[in-house]
Amino acid sequence: MKLTGIGASDGVAVGPAFVPATAGPEPERDRITEDEVEAELQRFKEAVEAVAGNLSETGDGLRAAGSGEEAGIFDFHVEMAEDPELASAVEERIRNLESPEAAVLAVGEEYAAEYAVMDEEYLAARADDVRDVTGQIAAQLIGRGASAFEALKTPSVVLSQSLAPSDTARIQKGMALGFVTAEGSRTSHVSIMARSMGIPAVVGVGPGLEDILAAKTVAVDGGEGYAIADPDADTVAELERMSGALAEERAALDEYRHVEASTSEGRRIEVAANIGSASEAEDALQWGAEGVGLFRTEFLFMERDELPSEDEQYEAYSAVARAFGEKPVIVRTLDVGGDKDLPGVDQASEENPFLGWRGIRMSLDTPELFEPQLRALLRAAANGNLKVMFPMVADVGELEAAKETLQECRRELESEGVEIGDLETGVMIETPAAAVCAGQLAEESAFFSIGTNDLVQYTLAADRGNERLRRLQNADHPAVLALIRQTCEAANAAGIQVGVCGEAAGEPEMIPKLVELGVTELSMAAPQIPGAKKAVSEL
Ligand code: PEP
Ligand code: MG
Repeated sequence: MKLTGIGASDGVAVGPAFVPATAGPEPERDRITEDEVEAELQRFKEAVEAVAGNLSETGDGLRAAGSGEEAGIFDFHVEMAEDPELASAVEERIRNLESPEAAVLAVGEEYAAEYAVMDEEYLAARADDVRDVTGQIAAQLIGRGASAFEALKTPSVVLSQSLAPSDTARIQKGMALGFVTAEGSRTSHVSIMARSMGIPAVVGVGPGLEDILAAKTVAVDGGEGYAIADPDADTVAELERMSGALAEERAALDEYRHVEASTSEGRRIEVAANIGSASEAEDALQWGAEGVGLFRTEFLFMERDELPSEDEQYEAYSAVARAFGEKPVIVRTLDVGGDKDLPGVDQASEENPFLGWRGIRMSLDTPELFEPQLRALLRAAANGNLKVMFPMVADVGELEAAKETLQECRRELESEGVEIGDLETGVMIETPAAAVCAGQLAEESAFFSIGTNDLVQYTLAADRGNERLRRLQNADHPAVLALIRQTCEAANAAGIQVGVCGEAAGEPEMIPKLVELGVTELSMAAPQIPGAKKAVSEL
């Protein structure tokens, strides 16, 4: 059975299918000891409070947004979580030395079984609700963030409805051979992650994914954009041949890895890497990165259950700065919201998260997140050529406010006698508003970097993750090109650098257009660097 979708990350792979469990969490231990009973009863109580708190907040958010009916479901779930009968059944099991997570799942199953046999359809459906709620309490007890992806212990092809960055962040290195998702486009985060990890991916295969979930083996061609369930021997042989050919193609580009790319007219174009963690720095240098055009710091925040401290951030930024030496490293401040949730930060659910509280908006409202990041960057700047960039800027006021916070952090560190370095400030041009106001923004910025992924989505009003809008998910559109031109003209007039760090920067067919429009730097997934240098050299 063959499924077609969007080829999101080149390469072919064949391997066992892995379908992340959507069922509840697995208890890590079944039993506890006598001495643990009191503490475990307390932990259970706290887990119920935490889950009920989250549920009622979600309900309130929905009500405020006018979705009263959905909010009612959450109210009902809160009642279930706080049900005294459920609590006493679980507590009794804990007193009988069952672990609280095993106990709450077992009681949940008992309740669900009672509901499931009821005649009325409405009541029978409550079985799922009770499983959902007790599953959440168990997950809370096991530790936030426990996810099915940690269970991936054999290299496999991952099949999933969608993959959030926090999901991919949890997959252990080497365990994902390929990704196949029902949702997504070339610029959704699963695609970006797949490209930088060098993992073949087919996204946006649609509901057909259901039909291959039971497959034992899955083959993926992330270049052509298809997946085959239980491929026959001939298909596997053909894919192996293709894999060999691809490796040869890549080897042929090797000579471009470390060239400094210029056009035939002598226009020098810097080719840099997009990275998501300090551990990618060395790899990026190997591919020939002349700097980091975009360090997405949100992955630093998402791979874990608590926020990273200022010192941890300092270490991560310093590691990249040191690895790159004099080469520039552009670090983007936290850009969560939209499709990037952050465990540990209270992001109320929003009707339109892509038009919501994200990027610089969230940072400016959350100094406890923003300031430690800026302090860490100022300190790390002493170890290399760091620059800071603000995401989702829509007007000069936001840039001024962000720079003012940076200035305060600088003063604070100076008065503490802490060593800091120079830190140039730049803006991501990824809202149409920023492109239109590029002239004003340029007066207060040391550089621009155009985020075509979001710029396309906001200009063309086309959700970057919606597989049905493929036609519009394209930077090669007159409206987008006009905004890029306007941005480049403003930057060139002000004498500042203008890069592109959206996915278009690594697409060989877009590179000539971007260079022609006046872009001076291209930043992309590291494995795309040699091909991009070749494309520039041929202009
Ligand atoms: C962009 O929007 O083009 C971009 C590079 O940022 P992200 O993909 O992280 O939203
Ligand atoms: Mg963006």
